[in-house]
Parts: sequence; structure tokens; C-alpha cells
Amino acid sequence: SEPRNENPRLPIRAPRGTELTARSWQTEAPLRMLMNNLDPAVAERPEELVVYGGTGRAARSWPAYDALVRTLTTLGPDETMLVQSGKPVGVMRTHEWAPRVLIANSNLVGDWANWEEFRRLEELGLTMYGQMTAGSWIYIGTQGILQGTFETFASVADKRFDGSLAGTITLTAGLGGMGGAQPLAVTMNDGVVICVECDPSRIQRRIEHRYLDVWADSLDHALALAIEARDARTPLSIGVRGNAAEIVPALLERDAPIDVITDQTSAHDPLAYLPVGVRFEDWQAQREADPVGFTQRARDSMAAHVAAMVGFLDRGAEVFDYGNSIRAEAEKARACRAFDIPGFVPAYIRPLFCEGKGPFRWAALSGDPADIAATDRAILELFPAEESAEYERLRRWITMAGERVRFQGLPARICWLGYGERHRAGLRFNEMVASGELTAPIVIGRDHLDCGSVASPYRETEAMLDGSDAIADWPLLNALVNTASGATWVSIHHGGGVGMGRSIHAGQVVVADGTDLAAQKIERVLTNDPGMGVIRHVDAGYELAADVAARTGVRIPMGEG
Ligand code: NAD
Repeated sequence: SEPRNENPRLPIRAPRGTELTARSWQTEAPLRMLMNNLDPAVAERPEELVVYGGTGRAARSWPAYDALVRTLTTLGPDETMLVQSGKPVGVMRTHEWAPRVLIANSNLVGDWANWEEFRRLEELGLTMYGQMTAGSWIYIGTQGILQGTFETFASVADKRFDGSLAGTITLTAGLGGMGGAQPLAVTMNDGVVICVECDPSRIQRRIEHRYLDVWADSLDHALALAIEARDARTPLSIGVRGNAAEIVPALLERDAPIDVITDQTSAHDPLAYLPVGVRFEDWQAQREADPVGFTQRARDSMAAHVAAMVGFLDRGAEVFDYGNSIRAEAEKARACRAFDIPGFVPAYIRPLFCEGKGPFRWAALSGDPADIAATDRAILELFPAEESAEYERLRRWITMAGERVRFQGLPARICWLGYGERHRAGLRFNEMVASGELTAPIVIGRDHLDCGSVASPYRETEAMLDGSDAIADWPLLNALVNTASGATWVSIHHGGGVGMGRSIHAGQVVVADGTDLAAQKIERVLTNDPGMGVIRHVDAGYELAADVAARTGVRIPMGEG
């Protein structure tokens, strides 16, 4: 990295408008999205090329970034640039249906797939951490997390509370980068939520960003506010300062009327979880002075925290782990029935994956928010409430996102769409580009956390019906099929979300530039990509997926003949 004031490239901002820097929209799109990932409004630490998620980078080094920009600017319509962990390593002659960019990030051979070896190679300048959408140039800021969290709580509502969290109280902790989306996601589902956070600045920031409604001065106050709002069936989010490892057991002790419990403290890293008995002000000094002892104390506290969550589970509350490894860390301290608590994917998200549903997202290359507003209207027209009760959730999200989400970088939108839905949205956007209703092309992509694009036994593929959690053929087939179907750029990464050795995942982005060729590619990519989710779950034995395949004509060779 270079210091900000000595780096003439900074700040980076993608070009806006209709004037091309590259030779066509098919290469202008990856160029703008690479630059957009490093926009200071989008990236956490653009001066280090870090976009989000720890050290998830968009490019390996500044010379590699320069070479990416230079190559994308000159790349022809029958050429493909190859990117190896954030560095362009070749340009090959292909054809116009081929992706313009193929990306492989952070991949290591199995026995070497650990952080130690990765750091060694990174130090040598041979690799970089691509996270999921950092190194594949389709990160759109915190909207993605808000929508995923909204979707999870909507699924909780569907499973237990007749489709709405109205009249229920949720308890959670952690108002950090990801966890800060929880209060708004619960109130968007009409619920009441108490959020425990030990860092007052995090509570303050969430109030300023209108993600959190009120800050209660005590636990009693928080509980009184929550019960009052619940009884009035009014959505309300309440922040309370404290340590979750004390407050959750205290609420269990007094038999508080909590309906849903989860947690998004940074439990995956014990040094980032505040143990009971350590003052917030002393956190930094104490973990530096004795990391080993601190880790033990943090795990002991997590065990108390998790034991109380299990206590609520025994009393009939809806309890789930939200992907922060608190179960595994708590079990390291002592047996506390942590794994009685289900992970959020098997509990709520898997049924959506069976239908090929996942985080479909798009960005307006014009930079004009009016283009996204027009696509929002198109989604509401395409998926009317009369057609399916399921569209109610989608429509609530799109409407609220239009009102509440502040764009970061190029205006963008995310919503979960399934097999048979994504290509309809993509084709409509392409028509809108062709007709001039949108001022410039749209890029259509998704998170790597999707129905058929990831193998991650602690998260997306936890507890698969047939035990196939660690089978990583699926994300590789996903990347291959997107390449064969006409995606504009395709990526295969290792280690995103849950770290080295724990996941393999793939991504695709396709550009709607208004041409007939783009329409043909969009139809195939946005059918086959979610189709991977359907076949992956049919193969694992999910009946819901088999029903979807039968209803929509997805071919499953082993079921034919
Ligand atoms: P973060 O570090 O930004 O925030 C964590 C917050 O927890 C901090 O504000 C911290 O002050 C607070 N905290 C720590 N110990 C506490 C305690 N004992 N009591 C109360 N508050 C405490 O992290 P983040 O980006 O918000 O992510 C949270 C966790 O969620 C991480 O473990 C992350 O890996 C996980 N995660 C899950 C998903 C998913 O798909 N569900 C996605 C991303 C991240």
C-alpha cells in the first residue's frame, strides 16, 4: 500500500454517464465496477485496496490495479482478460459470447488451505484475499447486508409468526458493520428488537443513520419500551449499552418475554468479543497485554451467553446462530449445548435456496439514481401482489429500500429473486436500456452467497440433507456454466465469508447494454445460474427443490429415463 497523500490515483471514482472510456459497454462495465469497489463511499480502506470483510481486496497491488485499468480500457470484443488473485496475468483471444474477464482469487490446494500459508504467500506478493464480492467487483456497500438480514427475519416471521414480526420481541447483540443492519431489518418486518452493544459509539452511529430508533438508558427501560411497543404492534428498535454475556442471562433469569434471539457480536474472533469483567475502556489494552488469557475469558463469556440462548430455546423461543461462530467458540470453553441452536441457513434460508432464490443485485452505470428508481418500478410491475403471496415480501423490501437506503458509489439495488424470476427482471432491464428509459447500461450480478454457487460447511451448506456440506464441485460447475452461458465476468474464490479452508464460491456478472446479444446472454445466464441452486438441492434430496424442478422443467438426468 502507499500512503493516501502520496498516491495520485486516490480518490478513485467510477466514471458516470454515457461516454465510454473502454471500447464497449462489455468492458466499460467491469472497469467501472472495479473502480466503484474502490470508491471511498464504498470501500473500507481504499488506500490499501481493501473493499470490505477484513482484508477483501479489489486488486492485489497498485501496479496490478493500473494494469487492470489499462487492459480493460483497451480489451477487444473477442478478448478475455485473466486475473489471478487480483493481478491480470494474460489476455487470450476468445469470442464474443465468452466472458471479457475470468477471475480466480485466493485459491489454494486443500492441504495448504489455511491462513498461515495464505499469509506467507500474500507476504510474498503471490496472492490476495478476494472475499466474495471485493475481488469480483460487485460489492455495493451495506445495502447487501441489510437486505440479507431483512430476508432472514422475514423467513423467521414466515416460519413461526404468520409472516410478520408484529407483536413479537427480538433480542440480539452487536451493532457493528454487519450487525448494525439488524434493528432496521427487524422493524422493516414490523417487529420490536432490543440490541445489546458494549460500544456506545456504535449505538450512536446507528441512531444517526436511522437504522436504530431509540437508545434506552437501562435494561429495565429497554424492556418496558419493548413490551409497550409489542402490545401496540408498533415496530421499534431499542439500543441498550451493556455486555451480552451478562444481559442475555439476566433476561433469561427474569423470564423476559423474548420471542426471537440471535447474535452478531464478532464472536468468530475471541479478541473482538468483550468478556464479562473487562471494562469497554480497557478492552484494547487487556487483549494486547495477554491475548491467550483474554481469549479464554472471551470464550468463557460466550459460553454463558450461549447457555442463556439455549435456555430461551428450551422455553420455546426461536433461536438461531447468525454466522458468527459463537457456537463453536463457546464449545471451546465448555460443553453448553451450543449446537442445539441451528445455524441460520439450514433454519431459514435453505428453503429459499431450493427455489433458486438468492441475492440478485444490479447497479446503474450511468450513476443516476433515477435509473435505479425506474428499475424499482419495473420490479414492482413484474412481480405484482395479485400473482403470488410470496411477492409481498419482495414488494415491501423494494418499497422500503427506495425510501431508506442511501446509495454508496454507483446507485444499486438488491433483492432476492428465484429461478424463473431473475431472467425476467434482467430482460426487462435490457429492454429499458434499449428503449432509452434508462440512461445507460445496467450490470446484473449477485453475492457469492447464493443458492448454487458456494460450498461452505459452516454457513451456506451447513447440515445438508445428504451430508454433502463440503463437496465443492458445485461452485466450480456454477462458474463453468456461467462462462458457457454468456456472463460478462466470472469468478472462482476460496475462503470468503468464513475464512481460509472453509469455503469455495463463484460469482457472475452480466451486462444489460440493450443489445439483442445481451438479451440472449441474460436469458441463459439468469436461468442457468439460479438453476444451479435448484439442481444442487434436488441432488441433496430436498423435496421442495424437486417440486420446483418438476414445475419449471429443470432437467435432472438421474430422474429421467
Ligand atoms: P463488528 O466487529 O463490526 O461488530 C461487532 C460488535 O459487537 C462491535 O460493535 C462490538 O462492540 C460488539 N461486541 C463485542 N463483544 C460484545 C459483547 N460481549 N456484548 C455486546 N457487544 C459486543 O462485526 P460485524 O461486521 O458486525 O460482524 C458481526 C459478526 O457477524 C462477525 O462474527 C461476522 O463474521 C459475522 N457475519 C455474519 C454474516 C452472515 O452472513 N450472517 C455476514 C457477515 C458477518
